[in-house]
Formats: sequence, C-alpha cells, structure tokens
Amino acid sequence: MIKTILWDIDGTILNFQSAAENSLKNTFRKFGYGEITDELLHMYEGINDVYWCKLEKGEIKKEKLLVERFVEFFTKIGVETTHVKEFNQAYLNGLLDTVVFMPEAHETVKKLHPQYKQYIVTNGVKQLQRQKIAKAKIEEFFDGIFISDEIGHEKPQLEFFDYVFDRIETQNRDEIMIIGDSLTSDIAGGIHAGIHTCWYHPSNEENHSDIKPEFTVTSHLAFQELLKQL
Ligand SMILES: [Mg+2]
Repeated sequence: MIKTILWDIDGTILNFQSAAENSLKNTFRKFGYGEITDELLHMYEGINDVYWCKLEKGEIKKEKLLVERFVEFFTKIGVETTHVKEFNQAYLNGLLDTVVFMPEAHETVKKLHPQYKQYIVTNGVKQLQRQKIAKAKIEEFFDGIFISDEIGHEKPQLEFFDYVFDRIETQNRDEIMIIGDSLTSDIAGGIHAGIHTCWYHPSNEENHSDIKPEFTVTSHLAFQELLKQL
C-alpha cells in the first residue's frame, strides 16, 4: 500500500511548457530581438533539453546551464551574446507570469492530500521554484518541498533521494511512489532508489528508452484510479 507520494512539479503538476514559451517570446521582444517563431522555439527547446540531460548526468552545474543554453541558441540564430546573463534573468522572472496547471492536477493533489503524505521533489532554481509554488497556491497540499538547488544534488542522483528519505516519515520504500513526466530524472531516480515509479505521460507516445517505469498514466484521474487499485 502506498502511503507517500513524491511529486515532480514541472510538466507534471504545472504546465511548464506554456510558461516557458510565453516567457521566451516576451523576453525576446523585450530585448529587441524580434518575434520568436515556432521553429526557433522548437530549436531552443531541443538545445535546452540537452543541457538539462547533462545536468542530470552531473556533467554541468546549474548556473552554467542557465546561461550556456542561451549562448548556444543565440549563436545558432545569429543574436549577439553580450546580454545573455540579463536575458536569462528576465526569462526566469517571466516564468512566474504564467502559472498553468496540467489538467486535473490541482484537484488531484488537493484530493489526495488528506489520504497520503505528499512531497514535491524538483530539479530547479531554488528561488524560482519557491515563488512558483507560492503563486500556484499548492503549498498547503504538501508535507514538504525538496528542491535540488537546496540539496546540492539533482534527480536522478541517489544522494537526492537519500536526502529526501532522511526527512520524510515513511521509511518503507515499498510504500513510496514517485510520479513525474521525466524518464531520465523522475523514473530512473525512483528505480535506483527502490521506490514505486509512475510515469506521467499525457502524450502517450511510445517509450523507446531503456528506462521502464513500473506504471504509466496519461492523466491525473488515471493516477487516482491507479492508487485506488494498489
Ligand atoms: Mg518534470
């Protein structure tokens, strides 16, 4: 029986992509770089993904990632890189302008709160994640918040999970489930840590990676149903 749920935020509870696209478009305009097309947006997202994968593997530090992704993107599209630090800061601030929930996510964390211990486990920029959680007004549904920046380790590193296990009530790993949209951070991390894993995968595209989640759901309602069956 599951007693504790570890929740990823971005792409699982909150629709990070909408927020990121809006902020990137607005910041681009603000810096006088013109309009950003869907094609450029797509290119940026590809570059950004590569940097976050490097972070998960411990190949790059967060501060470096935040700036380097824009250096690479700007270089590719012929925009000067002198103001890249300021650009990144403006982009991060802009992420807070749009708080959009994934469908049924708010209702789900609210509903499960009395029945389960719930914790947020996120790889992110400390201040930004804290502000985002405050703005989304979801703190009351959680028993604790764990942000990689504050821990000094990222998901899927075991050190991240050990830090969490040292601070939560449930110690039997068979009673803990992680739910998240990332195979490489949430699911791989959960598998290594020996807890149950549920991949939140609304697009329902086939999993071609060798990281195999124990459960997969395409919606939060399906996640609620899954918990009832366990
Ligand atoms: Mg995520």
